[in-house]
Amino acid sequence: GFPVAGRTVLVAGLGVSGEAAARVLLAQGATVLLTDAAEPPVGAELVGLGAEWLGEVRTLPGGVDLVVTSPGWRPDAPLLVDAAARGVEVIGEPELAWRLRIPGPDGVPAPWLAVTGTNGKTTTVTMLAAILSAAGRRAVAAGNVGRPLVEVVTARDDDGAAAFDVVAVELSSFQLHWSSSLAPAAAAVLNVADDHTDWHGSFAAYRDAKARILERSPVAVADAGDPVASAVVAAHPRPVTVTLGEPAPGQLGVRAGALVDRAFADDPAGEVLLERSDLPVPGPHNTVNALAAAALARAVGVPAEAVARGLSGFRGGAHRNALVATVDGVDYVDDSKATNPHAAGASLAAYPRVVWIAGGLLKGADVDPLVADAAPRLAGAVLLGRDRAVVAHSLARHAPSVPVVEVASGNDEAMDAETTMTRVVAAAAGLARPGDTVLLAPAAASMDVFRDYGHRGRAFADAVRALGGRA
Ligand code: ADP
Repeated sequence: GFPVAGRTVLVAGLGVSGEAAARVLLAQGATVLLTDAAEPPVGAELVGLGAEWLGEVRTLPGGVDLVVTSPGWRPDAPLLVDAAARGVEVIGEPELAWRLRIPGPDGVPAPWLAVTGTNGKTTTVTMLAAILSAAGRRAVAAGNVGRPLVEVVTARDDDGAAAFDVVAVELSSFQLHWSSSLAPAAAAVLNVADDHTDWHGSFAAYRDAKARILERSPVAVADAGDPVASAVVAAHPRPVTVTLGEPAPGQLGVRAGALVDRAFADDPAGEVLLERSDLPVPGPHNTVNALAAAALARAVGVPAEAVARGLSGFRGGAHRNALVATVDGVDYVDDSKATNPHAAGASLAAYPRVVWIAGGLLKGADVDPLVADAAPRLAGAVLLGRDRAVVAHSLARHAPSVPVVEVASGNDEAMDAETTMTRVVAAAAGLARPGDTVLLAPAAASMDVFRDYGHRGRAFADAVRALGGRA
């Protein structure tokens, strides 16, 4: 246990996890101080529960024992630097949750199975929760996906014991940066590609934050196809990698069209988990995610049969390679969640001939490797958003014969987001022929034109449905 009663805790940043941390700390008798750039709507309610709203503070107030910071805050935020200078501990909400876990019916807290990586976290954690539930465990997906961890680990069943037997935890590099004692029963670093180096300061710092998930985990899972992630787990005493090829001993992989476990099976030849064709989500990347989820579940003794049931019943998440409609023989797929080139590259590899919709905020990422790699599968490209010219340039260099349409959009042309997307979809329809896939996988963030990736995906789906209505 981690006694917080009587201690003074400053909650910095009142997003979803900050709010949840404040509520749990108040319920456990801590003195709770709140700070953020602006008072959020929930501020008044938390004050009503006994918290004190400080407004924005840049230096640590006296008497604070612990700071719980939001993952949105950069480590160089003045308040956090000041806390460190005064020797006051700064942790994130996952670390707080780890310390506050309550025991289950057997007297011990529920184990965590943890997932990080640049892409595929939410999909893998959701698959994992489905597998664990199929195995009859009271499982929940939490962390960066679903409910906040502090809420999940302190939830009680009717008998007052922990409400969950096992927690499938998604952790971002930001959250891991502020974690120090998490000890999952097994953990995965799916992949490490260029993203968020602005927050961490460098690619090495980003990679090292992700690697922290493995420090106290007895099992370390990674995609063998990802050079950085597999190098990270190679240094671990129990590495388990997943591969789209034949699995070697100690791996999970694909043999004769089936997902096979050679890491946790009793038979050294391996144990078949399920047929690849029974996986209801498209693309090699989703097979990797399924293998990683299976590895984590197998690490805590889940039988092959439950892995098969959990995965075959899995429905992909919204805006993640979701088929919207087939119009005039063309599949329209929403992968708005492909917000960086690494994700878009995986997404493009899932379809043989693609009219690619891309562009937005590239955040300084390099699209050249992705474009060069995808060029043979491109039937056309429609570009939107602020950095569309960067993508156009890359296409001109690496795929000069691919027809490209640029759609001026959003802020710069005073055109609303829906109109922009309607023009984009119309242009894509014009480039596609029956059998093609029109794929929204922008390789970029959405906030130049849309509120977020969900808004972008919904605008796409609406435009596609309007196209279908017309046909
Ligand atoms: P995250 O939670 O890490 O953002 P998601 O599961 O939400 O990951 O997937 C985000 C996007 O990343 C997907 O829409 C897809 O384009 C891509 N993606 C999913 N899994 C992988 C993977 N294993 N490797 C590379 N890209 C992936």
